[in-house]
Amino acid sequence: VSELRQNAATRDWVVIATERAERPDQFRNERRRRRLPPYDPNCPFCPGNEEKTPPETYASRLDGQWQVRVMPNKFAAFALRGSRERNTQGLLLSMDGVGAHEVIVESPQHDKTIGTLPFSQVRLVLEAYRSRFRALLEDHRIELVTIFRNHGEHAGTSLIHPHSQLIATPIVPPFVRERMDTARHYYDQWGECLYCDMLKQELATRERVILENEHFVCFAPHASRQPFEMWLLPRHHRSSFGDTSDEEIHGMADGLGEAMARLHIGLDDPDYNYMIHTAPYAELDVRHYHWHVQVLPRLTTPAGFELGSGIYITTAYPEQSAQYLRQVELPENLEALAERAS
Ligand SMILES: [Zn+2]
Ligand SMILES: [Zn+2]
Repeated sequence: VSELRQNAATRDWVVIATERAERPDQFRNERRRRRLPPYDPNCPFCPGNEEKTPPETYASRLDGQWQVRVMPNKFAAFALRGSRERNTQGLLLSMDGVGAHEVIVESPQHDKTIGTLPFSQVRLVLEAYRSRFRALLEDHRIELVTIFRNHGEHAGTSLIHPHSQLIATPIVPPFVRERMDTARHYYDQWGECLYCDMLKQELATRERVILENEHFVCFAPHASRQPFEMWLLPRHHRSSFGDTSDEEIHGMADGLGEAMARLHIGLDDPDYNYMIHTAPYAELDVRHYHWHVQVLPRLTTPAGFELGSGIYITTAYPEQSAQYLRQVELPENLEALAERAS
């Protein structure tokens, strides 16, 4: 028989279809990616084309050359104009799309991706995330800042040049509110943070732990929605990503950089999304919520059953996926890894 598992934090149910369970190496990306040049004169994110994008809101520079650059999305879904006033007509509710939609260009080099960047460069990317996250929450109209990365066509990428995005919204959607509520109920019941407890339990067995360092732990959730799903949690309890210290950003760069490198090598550059789940403005510093990164490889497509029931069918055991990723051999230094990928 198959096995049903529930994720304590999201309360999502997943079915592990044991009959159809596949070996971890069967998830390797079969499609050959196009070989990319390190520089593309027609790419709006490549150096020299800065005037093709809206003016930058942040940049990190070395010897006059930007290393990471942030600007509003040219086709922004949100902008810092308008108010939060609700318009109603009976049951029909609407409001201005006030907020921000920015692009974080992660490297001047066209052919890199987060899984092939040196960890020192990943750190610059995370510093950009944190800086923009803090700045946007200063605007009283903003309730939530969501940072995410789409990689590959199944993950919704439209531009190849390595980049992440950030969207600041004037509302907290039910999806986020429900996770906050689940965490708060757990805290009220047990007097502990659900995520701190999850971390403790994962570290007690280490069955699903993929890697850990002084500040972060990366594991495959017990009820993973997709094969090779990964969660990266800070060891230190914090509700908001924006409060991450410099030292933690360092540890996060090493942890996220390594996790993405293992995924990149182990599955041959699969499509994926990653998201930073963090508390909304009103709950930036609470004992019940713990910010974290979720990496969701797009190895299967949710279909009718998933959309109709919210139950996910997966054909991989998280324990086996974690073991497989732990065993991926990394090159001695990430510069070598970057060479290999280009
Ligand atoms: Zn480019
Ligand atoms: Zn916690």
